Amino acid sequence: MTDKGIDSEDRAAALAAAVESARPQDRPSPVTNLFGLDRAQLRAAFAAMGEKPYRADQVMQWIYRRGQDGFDGMSNLSKDLRARLARHFEIRTPELVTEQVSTDGTRKWVLRLDGGNAIETVYIPEEGRATLCISSQVGCAMDCSFCSTAQQGFNRNLTTAEIIAQVWFAARTLGGDFHGQHWKDRDQPEDERGGRVISNIVFMGMGEPLANYNAVLPAIRILLDDFGFGLSKRRVTVSTSGLVPYMDRLREDVDTALAVSLHAPDDALRDEIVPINRKYPIAELLNACRRYTAGKDRKTHIVYEYVMLDGINDRPEHARKLAKLLAGMPAKVNLIPFNPFPQTRYRRSSPEAIQAFAKILRDKHILTTTRKTRGDDIDAACGQLVGKVMSRQKNRLGTRIGDVPVTTA
Ligand code: SAH
Repeated sequence: MTDKGIDSEDRAAALAAAVESARPQDRPSPVTNLFGLDRAQLRAAFAAMGEKPYRADQVMQWIYRRGQDGFDGMSNLSKDLRARLARHFEIRTPELVTEQVSTDGTRKWVLRLDGGNAIETVYIPEEGRATLCISSQVGCAMDCSFCSTAQQGFNRNLTTAEIIAQVWFAARTLGGDFHGQHWKDRDQPEDERGGRVISNIVFMGMGEPLANYNAVLPAIRILLDDFGFGLSKRRVTVSTSGLVPYMDRLREDVDTALAVSLHAPDDALRDEIVPINRKYPIAELLNACRRYTAGKDRKTHIVYEYVMLDGINDRPEHARKLAKLLAGMPAKVNLIPFNPFPQTRYRRSSPEAIQAFAKILRDKHILTTTRKTRGDDIDAACGQLVGKVMSRQKNRLGTRIGDVPVTTA
C-alpha cells in the first residue's frame, strides 16, 4: 500500500475503522492503543497520517521485538514523528491487580481493565516449552456446566488491545520476548542471551474466543506476524466450545491451531454439559472440524479436549463411542482431569478411570494425552479462572440457546 493510492476520504475512513477497532467499548478514549492494531490496520492508520507504511512496521518491531512501551525510545523515527505518534496513540498495558506463583512455577496474573472488570492470564512453564493461557472475554456466555468462568456469567468482549496486552505484559514481566532475545539483555552477545520466555499461546483463559471473533482475529495476526510476536502457526491455539460458523471463518482468515472442547461422545450428554451443542450438535461440529483440516498439511490435527468428570462421561462405553466418532480423523484427544471449584456438583475422575479411558482410545489408534494439572494451589487450572465480572448478564446460553451472543462483522 502506498500513500499516493489512497485519497483523503479513504484515509479518514481507514483511520476511523482502525481507531474504532482498538477502542475499549466502555470508555471512549481520545487515543488509540497500539496493541489493538494488526499490521494492516497500523499501516492504514499511518497512511491516514501521511506516513509511509514501513514506519508502521518499525513501530511494531519496537513494541513487540524490543519491548518498548513509549515513543521516546523509538530512535529510528524522527522527533517530529514521535511527537505526532504520542498525540494519536498510546501503548498501554492493563494494570496488575495480583500475581500468584504456584509451587510448580505456574503464575497467575489478575489484570484490571477499564470499567472495573478484571481478567486472568496464566503462565505455565514446562520442560522444553512455556505456554501462556490468555482470556478473550470478561466472563463467558457458553454456560458449560463444569466450568467456573461460566458461573460468572458474561459481561463483555475484550478488545484486541486487551487480548494482546496480556501477552506483552507477560513477556515483559518474565523479562523476555519471543525472538530468542531477552529485552533486558539485548545488549549482550547473541549466545549469552536467554531463550524465548513464551513459546506457545492458547486461547484457553476466560471466554469463548470465537464468540469475540472480530477482536480475536487481529490478535491472532499480531501473534503470528514477524513484526509482532512472530510465533509459528502451530504454537497459537484457539480453543472453542464449537461455534461452527466461526470455525469456518477462522479457517478462511488465518492459519492457526484449533482445539475443540468436545467433552462428551453423544448429543444427549453434550447438550447437558456444553449447551452450545443444542445449536451445533456433534455431527455438525465434527463436519466443521473436517473442513478445518481439509487441504492443510498432513501434520495438522485438531486437539479434542475432554474433561474427565467422575461417573458422568468417563466410563469405558464413553471412550468406545468417542473412538468411533473420531476414527479416521486427524485428531488428538487431550483428557483433562476435572478441576473443582466451590459449589460444583462434579468430582474429578479417578486416575484409574482416566488411564482406562486413555487405553481404550489408544487401542483404537487415537493419539491420547492426559493434561497434567498445573497451578491448582493458586486456582489457575483450566476452568478455574474467574477474574472479576461486573454486572454480569444472568441469562446465559443454557437458558436461551437460540441467541448466541457473538460479535458479527
Ligand atoms: N471457551 C473455550 C476456552 C475455554 S477453557 C473452550 O470452550 O474451548 C479451555 C478448556 O478448559 C476447555 O476445554 C474447557 O472445557 C476446559 N475446562 C473448563 N472448565 C474446566 C474444569 N473445571 N476442569 C477442567 N477443564 C475445564
